[in-house]
Amino acid sequence: MKEQDNKHRDTTRLVHVREVPLGGGAPVAVQSMNMTDTRDIPATRAQIAALADCGCEIARVAIPDLEAALALREICRDTPIPVVADIHFDYRLALESIRNGAHKIRINPGNIGDKDRVREVALAAKEHGIPIRVGVNSGSLSQKMLDLHGGVNRQSMVESALENIRMLEDNGFEDIVVSLKASDPLLMIESYRLLAGRTRYPLHLGVTEAGTPYEGSIRSAVGIGTLLAEGIGDTIRVSLTGQPEEEVRAAYAILKALRLRVRGPELISCPTCGRTQVDLIRVAAEVEQRLKSEKRNIRVAVMGCAVNGPGEAREADIGIAGGKGEFLLFSKGHILRKVNEKDAVEELFREIDRMEENAR
Ligand code: SF4
Repeated sequence: MKEQDNKHRDTTRLVHVREVPLGGGAPVAVQSMNMTDTRDIPATRAQIAALADCGCEIARVAIPDLEAALALREICRDTPIPVVADIHFDYRLALESIRNGAHKIRINPGNIGDKDRVREVALAAKEHGIPIRVGVNSGSLSQKMLDLHGGVNRQSMVESALENIRMLEDNGFEDIVVSLKASDPLLMIESYRLLAGRTRYPLHLGVTEAGTPYEGSIRSAVGIGTLLAEGIGDTIRVSLTGQPEEEVRAAYAILKALRLRVRGPELISCPTCGRTQVDLIRVAAEVEQRLKSEKRNIRVAVMGCAVNGPGEAREADIGIAGGKGEFLLFSKGHILRKVNEKDAVEELFREIDRMEENAR
């Protein structure tokens, strides 16, 4: 799908989470959230490092209590990527997180409290030069919003966000990012569309409680991908019941499919059909596994047959196309040589390394 010409993301206010720009047409940033207990400082630092290593640009950590807020002092010191403190219920934890070096905080308008509390948080964030995400969640809207707008729907989601935005603005605070997460991708899509017409703050997209890596990736691709294709969304987080590194991989796959960001390899593989005479499913799985550690932006094709294979994958940098017990190794639609089925993956990666050497 072609992205719309009038992109909301090109018109949003530019805010920075430490060195990472959000909004104002900046590249859509990839976020994830730690699974570690924030009070366990070494484990939390290690997971942030692992996330940074696989391309995550912003990490979020849960702040359930004062000990977690105090742990930020050590976690945020020389962290490879900026750290966001996730706050629910207790505004004092937001204040403590800001004092201890959080690079951004996320507050939930449904449960953070009244104007005076929001004011204190806004003033502290302003003093420290960090942004605030107003993180609306369909599961925790305030009773007032539910009563006013007839339950959980796009109006109650958007009005909840706008009310909090106004509270921050009333205190002269404008480094705001907004999210409207719901587990229902349709509600999430409708809510963000409505909000995009009413605000110029950068939008953080996500389908919350999306599910297991399989189910969750699809639901996120539908929700996040639809909005991104319409030009809405400045930063994304794919929520999966799995390792956060999986979330980052899924996020880049969505961005790659829409040609918004390219990071790391792209694997193209055919669905197989009656022409296939090799164990393509095994070979493709092996190639996918080995590509996980690959950082270069290469397109690799794994095709079932040589009749259509190289032609169908002409745009691939490198690929293999099956024959009878063997593969043709090809590059950009041109055949390089035949390789034995059992050596095909090894030969493919040898050729990828050779491409790298030639490029130097
Ligand atoms: S590339 Fe060949 S084996 Fe794969 S789906 Fe196409 S025709 Fe079938």
